[in-house]
Amino acid sequence: MTENRPAKPQTGRNNLDPHLDRYAARTAGMTASEIRALFAVASRPEVVSLAGGMPNLAALPLDTLSAQVGEIIAEEGLVALQYGSAHGIPALRDQICEIMALEGIKAHPDDVVVTVGSQMGLDMVTRLFCDPGDVVIAEGPSYVGALGSFSAYQANVVHVAMDEHGLVPEGLREALRQAEKAGQRVKFLYTIPNFHNPAGVTLSVERRPEIVEICREHGVLIIEDNPYGLLGFDGQTYPALRSLDPDNVVYLGSFSKTFASGLRVGWVLAPHAVREKLVLAAESATLCPPTFNQMIVSRYLATHDWKGQIKKFRENYRERRDAMLSALHQYLPPGCSWTNPDGGFYVWVTVPEGVDTKAMLPRAVTARVAYASGTGFYADGFGSRQMRLSYCYPTPERIREGVRRLAAVLESEMDL
Ligand code: PMP
Repeated sequence: MTENRPAKPQTGRNNLDPHLDRYAARTAGMTASEIRALFAVASRPEVVSLAGGMPNLAALPLDTLSAQVGEIIAEEGLVALQYGSAHGIPALRDQICEIMALEGIKAHPDDVVVTVGSQMGLDMVTRLFCDPGDVVIAEGPSYVGALGSFSAYQANVVHVAMDEHGLVPEGLREALRQAEKAGQRVKFLYTIPNFHNPAGVTLSVERRPEIVEICREHGVLIIEDNPYGLLGFDGQTYPALRSLDPDNVVYLGSFSKTFASGLRVGWVLAPHAVREKLVLAAESATLCPPTFNQMIVSRYLATHDWKGQIKKFRENYRERRDAMLSALHQYLPPGCSWTNPDGGFYVWVTVPEGVDTKAMLPRAVTARVAYASGTGFYADGFGSRQMRLSYCYPTPERIREGVRRLAAVLESEMDL
């Protein structure tokens, strides 16, 4: 039966979407991340952006890469431009095992599934393990892209606090006890042990076996997300959680921060029993990861001093981290505190009570500096007194200038 109803008044933005009543229920939690919404403004040249997490690729050997790409087409073009297996090319899976060995992981190449960045790995593991209403435990704050995947599959996120040594074991125990008491099903702990995004802290070596043990005791899987593990400023690597309990840890890796983010090549190392399901999930998502890009990564690893290259990246990021920390010390008003990252891209800042970083952001952008406000890194609205500052991309001079501008905005906010 059709009705002749007057058109609904178009008040909210969503009312402009004629497909509104067609979307699946799970899309309700899909909203643009605050960081993405900010991207357009923050990328104006006059704005110093401390908001994004773009790797600084300036040190890449573009001439060598250009020659190698040509060689791949000339020598193996018909393979490189063809579909491949959903599992990923064997040569690259072997090389990935060598890389993971640097963090103590003993893996068989069959258990590695190459993905389109580790973001695809996050989507796949959530798809495999989470039914609507299942609980995922994550550090608070946590990686915004992971929260997006959890929300897309209607999982409920319970955050556990970190301190300067990373995830707090007692907090994890308590969260598990509470969930069990409430009869909730906890599917996994999602954790970023090294050079956390956004918190900038690293799980201490002492805590690692304890975290692994707690999860095993409670029958909870661990998803270990480790895109920054080789970017420790003093070159130190930490034992992967996966190396401590291979049967209970799914490990996500990526070439985005150690080589080239635009190639979109990452991987999942799964316990043997999970691997077959992962390959099926990968097949239904993309048929196969891009053969050409995998061959570029593989040839680069085989022919280039990639460890030396990572060292250059590390030196670059260390210089920027130093610039940021010294500017924070010099300019930020009393009452602010921040983390001291030993690697990776990010500093997590806490501002004095009364300042709301989300509300302050438009004023900061007017003052030509951008940051990522803390609420985007929590599933529960927490984080209004926090912000993430990224030092990975701007020059040290721009970082200093950005922090100077930010400090002025904060001071006027505190006077209000
Ligand atoms: N995990 C974390 C913690 C990240 O910071 C990022 C990228 N910012 C990703 C996963 C996704 O990385 P990619 O898809 O480029 O491999």
